[in-house]
Amino acid sequence: MRLVLLGPPGVGKGTQASSIVKKYGVPHISTGDIFRANIKNGTKLGLEAKSYMDKGLLVPDELVVSIVKDRLAQDDCKDGFLLDGFPRTIEQADSLDQSLSESGIKLDKVINLSADKDILLERVVGRRICRTCGATYHIKFNPPKVDGICDLDQGELYQREDDTEETVSTRIEVYGKETRPLIDYYTNKDLLLDIDGTQPIEQIFEIIVKSL
Ligand code: ADP
Ligand code: AMP
Ligand code: ZN
Repeated sequence: MRLVLLGPPGVGKGTQASSIVKKYGVPHISTGDIFRANIKNGTKLGLEAKSYMDKGLLVPDELVVSIVKDRLAQDDCKDGFLLDGFPRTIEQADSLDQSLSESGIKLDKVINLSADKDILLERVVGRRICRTCGATYHIKFNPPKVDGICDLDQGELYQREDDTEETVSTRIEVYGKETRPLIDYYTNKDLLLDIDGTQPIEQIFEIIVKSL
């Protein structure tokens, strides 16, 4: 199964991704996670990406595209993958299209989640992430059993540096300009599954499973 999760920041891509990879056993490839891991490890790539991420801007296509190419060439992606947060521009989508067709493979589906700006803002600002396992919570919509502590491994929950109201507004604007055109792009390729992202987490997952 070769899937893409599309949608604005905070719509619930990562949340659905963790259920999808659990059920279907495909690797979860989140470009945002790859950049954050590089920042944590102090790599050159991390340093460069951080300057864009802190401002809520997209990391330049050349950087993102080569990282995803390398990742998709790894053995565990042979039978499928779930891309989360990539592609985010037409140029990235074209490059993905080209690499896949060079390998004689096709995407099965592009799952598009949508929600209005006020919902996205509330979701992003209330997002909390486990330092140990990366599980995602929300202080109101998906709270941990104990405040600030991960249910799965008792890891400490933290807030992403770019999850401030100001940065999120920029990220939503950038999404509208750069990423939203991909809805038409994948509709024209007959790949798009459009889902109302304001529904409860479990209900969205049910719709995804039924469609796959
Ligand atoms: P994205 O990966 O698209 O940026 P996340 O999956 O990290 O979004 O979700 C953003 C925040 O919204 C998280 O705090 C998450 O717990 C919460 N969330 C995700 N899906 C839903 C939903 N369907 N209803 C309410 N809250 C949600
Ligand atoms: P995310 O974790 O998907 O919310 O991404 C966090 C940040 O990483 C974004 O605001 C961008 O700065 C950067 N980023 C992640 N994926 C991409 C991508 N495909 N293209 C450009 N920038 C990206
Ligand atoms: Zn955890």
